[in-house]
Amino acid sequence: MSMKPLQQLVRPNIWALKPYSSARDEYHGVEASVFLDANENPYNAPYNRYPDPLQEDLKKALAPLKGVRPGQIFLGNGSDEAIDLVFRIFCEPKEDNVVAIAPTYGMYKVCADINNVAYRPVSLDEDFRLDAGKLLAAADGRTKLIFMCSPNNPSGNDLDRGEMEKVIENFPGVVVVDEAYADFSAQKPFRTELDRYPNLVVLNTFSKAWGSAGIRLGMAFAQEDLIGLFNKVKYPYNVNQLTQQQAAEMLSKRFDVEKWVKVLLRERDQVMAAFAELDVCGKVFPSDANFFLARVKGADAVYAYLVRNGIIVRNRSRVELCGDCLRVTIGTPQENNCLLGALRAYKAEGGSR
Ligand SMILES: *Cc1c(COP(=O)(O)O)cnc(C)c1O
Repeated sequence: MSMKPLQQLVRPNIWALKPYSSARDEYHGVEASVFLDANENPYNAPYNRYPDPLQEDLKKALAPLKGVRPGQIFLGNGSDEAIDLVFRIFCEPKEDNVVAIAPTYGMYKVCADINNVAYRPVSLDEDFRLDAGKLLAAADGRTKLIFMCSPNNPSGNDLDRGEMEKVIENFPGVVVVDEAYADFSAQKPFRTELDRYPNLVVLNTFSKAWGSAGIRLGMAFAQEDLIGLFNKVKYPYNVNQLTQQQAAEMLSKRFDVEKWVKVLLRERDQVMAAFAELDVCGKVFPSDANFFLARVKGADAVYAYLVRNGIIVRNRSRVELCGDCLRVTIGTPQENNCLLGALRAYKAEGGSR
């Protein structure tokens, strides 16, 4: 089934929207040296100037690295901005709905709730595998978006690429594939296949492999007409100057990023193996990311014990299919040893469970 015409998918008010035009949007050129157009203060350079609203230098530097064209990139205040924007672009409150895998990243549901859009979670199987048919069956004529996350959070595994392709190829709306952890995975990303899939939006972030969660920079990749809609709806200066500068600086350090990823993956495999040997461990789920999910004996008690020892992991035990599960991020070798050491010393209260 091919994609519906974009005009049928986009909310009518957004389709008709005439976006705010900032001073820096109207002026385009390089010769000017006297800027008296934006009511800025001429003092306190360089922070006195508004940043580039479309972050063109940064996109030019990012495009070859990501295997996309600059016009296929949206940059936002974390991936969370891109997630919120897809709702605001496509979903008419109280009328449209979205479908998503479950369990998955919590922000899709939060943004659905904020935008008053019905959210339809579809369970993965107990090994967190995707069934394309089941996901597609949950969609109806008012389903605008389908969310998939691979490697998935909190389960850590890649979704099957063939199943994901079936979803993208057979859904007439927009498919959002969150590849926040793709740098850690050996699976081919969807990001480089935008030209094959006009209905695909891929999310990436600076927050994980790129070690820059503090600067809040997320990316969405899609064909140019979709990116045009993001640009129309976003705040005019959504990515500040300091973030743009620091991101450019990170791009020149991309070999450090590759090194970090290698180190973290090696460390992850060691920590997972050691974790599996713990008395407290029930099961370690396979991971294609910089974290892993583990089922333990009494997750709440183990979590509380770790907190008392100053070690914070994520208690996911109340999340669908994640009963008694903790999610563990890979840290430095010292941090990881700290966790393993504490768990070796753990004795469940009330004896064996
Ligand atoms: C961490 C994470 C993100 C990143 O969000 P930012 O807003 O870019 O920090 C996106 N998606 C998933 C699934 C994540 O786990």
